[in-house]
Amino acid sequence: MKKNMKVIAGGIGLIEGLSPGFLPCCVLQACLNALSPFINIYLSAALINGLLEGWGMIRLLQGVCVMALLNLVCGGLAAWTERLVNVKQNALFAQYDWKLNSRMMELPYEEVERYEVQALRERIRQMANVNGMGLWNLVNPVKAVVRSVFTILFAIAIFCAVFVQCGPGEGMLTGFFCSAWASAGLAALILGNICVNLYTVSRSTKKVFAAFAGLVPINQVYSYYLENYIDTYHSGKDIRLYRQGDLIRSEMGKLLRDGREPMKRLKGIEFRYNGLGSLAGFAMNLTIYLTVGMRALAGLFPVGSIVQYVGGIGQFVSGFTTFAAQITLLNSNVEALELILRYLGMGEPEEKSGLIGRGSGLCGGKTVLEEPLRSADSLEIEFRNVSFTYPGTESKALDNLSFAINPGEKLAVVGVNGSGKTTMIKLLCGLYEPDQGEILVNGRDIRELDQEACRKLFGVVFQDFQLFSFGLGQNLAGSRIYDGERARAALEEAGFGARLAGMDLETSLYKDFDPQGVEISGGEAQKIAIARALYRQAPILILDEPTAALDPQAEYEVYEKLNHISENRTAIFISHRMSSCRFCGRILVLDGGRLVQEGSHEELLRDSGGRYFELWHAQEQYYR
Ligand code: ADP
Repeated sequence: MKKNMKVIAGGIGLIEGLSPGFLPCCVLQACLNALSPFINIYLSAALINGLLEGWGMIRLLQGVCVMALLNLVCGGLAAWTERLVNVKQNALFAQYDWKLNSRMMELPYEEVERYEVQALRERIRQMANVNGMGLWNLVNPVKAVVRSVFTILFAIAIFCAVFVQCGPGEGMLTGFFCSAWASAGLAALILGNICVNLYTVSRSTKKVFAAFAGLVPINQVYSYYLENYIDTYHSGKDIRLYRQGDLIRSEMGKLLRDGREPMKRLKGIEFRYNGLGSLAGFAMNLTIYLTVGMRALAGLFPVGSIVQYVGGIGQFVSGFTTFAAQITLLNSNVEALELILRYLGMGEPEEKSGLIGRGSGLCGGKTVLEEPLRSADSLEIEFRNVSFTYPGTESKALDNLSFAINPGEKLAVVGVNGSGKTTMIKLLCGLYEPDQGEILVNGRDIRELDQEACRKLFGVVFQDFQLFSFGLGQNLAGSRIYDGERARAALEEAGFGARLAGMDLETSLYKDFDPQGVEISGGEAQKIAIARALYRQAPILILDEPTAALDPQAEYEVYEKLNHISENRTAIFISHRMSSCRFCGRILVLDGGRLVQEGSHEELLRDSGGRYFELWHAQEQYYR
């Protein structure tokens, strides 16, 4: 209970942070909406009583005018606050979406790559899709709870007098209904009815919520099929050539059938609990009308007050029922809310800025690099006894790795798949933090460096690089504004010059948002990715399998240019094509995360028992 309160309070804090002033507006709106029916109940009773007392036409007209005016004022104010609440609510959900999406871009890369974090993000999305679990199911119940509290208070104010208006009545039956015993009985019946409602509403809300929660994993897989297999043309070829369509159709059909079952059960649950609530309500209403009617008949209060008391009690019970239902909803929503708070870094298990508590990756410090450090001539990198294991795995991806990269050096890193080449680069760029050892930039631990300054050191092209559906120039600069000359030079240098002739820097890549956009081949994309790394003019250029998607001619051209491209830069080339590394002054050979050999191509080939010799000769036969 205490924990739930804490999570709900956290959620309310999130709402107030995202849209300041939204909650006070909701309170005002709830108060006005709750007040509105009571104006009519109270004044209708007063008008009927006035008529019975023999009010004249003028007085009656005055009464009607007051009632109409109050309705107008209250309705107008309610409409005004509703507009205010809607505007702020739209802003709230826009800010919320922005915050959720930004979080993925801000999280340390180490966490983004983890399955648990991806699964958490997807679960939050699906919970919201299925029945608004999360923020939606916090905002609406909070509004309804506040409104029901006002309803209960207003109702008590207009019906409580009925309990004390006791007295003698003619005959046994009237006498009983006018007695204090009947007041006590009526109070007990109202309380009983509230209890039945609390029970039925909270049970049915809980079950409905549980049924929806059961739909989340089904919906998750269904949406995955839809987004990744059906709504995208990328899988179109394989679906047609390998007849995957039948399999996808049958899997999706099964998911639909699985999803229908909980919905059917849901309708049954609602019918049963609603029926029980209606029966209890019928018994209570019968007794209320009898008691209030008899008392009016006995002259304990005027007939018009029947409207006031019966209406007040009705509002009281429905206020309580809403209150109970919404509190149950809030409690059932706690799990989803907790996930959101945790994801946004506002929950309990969070340590530092991350979700998994391993820190925020490298380059978390404040030291900004001095100007001379930005030039490759004076930039020395050293891995000192670096070891690293991916979270959730057993074996070391890097094992006690030690080597230095001299200023302006051209270094190649080779090794079979899985030997740790890409991991080494990820650590160097600060995407992961070593478990042991240090990475030093001019003798200074990379952890101490300012993140922005640290990132500016590297122009990297990973194997699985990503280009975006923006303009070509914007892709290069990572910003709307770019230096056209620099962009053209980088594209020329990367071998994209001929293709650039048919387009300009504003041309969008892909057709996702622009029908005039260009679809590019894998090789062209790789050249643009290289140009993006060059555009940055970073002192260290890192190319991880830079030519994997290029045809032999294009590969030859890139390597021809690499010497020129890497002039005035430190360069690290990763490739499993041994022949492409020959031109580098020094080659590191990785195996199982360890550095097993290093030297020039000629030196390494001389060691006929070495790993390099083995790899070289294994590939050489294909090039003969
Ligand atoms: P290479 O670039 O030499 O092909 P990697 O550095 O990509 O090798 O991988 C080194 C080892 O780390 C491999 O055993 C690989 O399976 C593992 N690995 C790579 N990325 C991850 C990851 N995100 N999570 C868990 N293990 C990983």
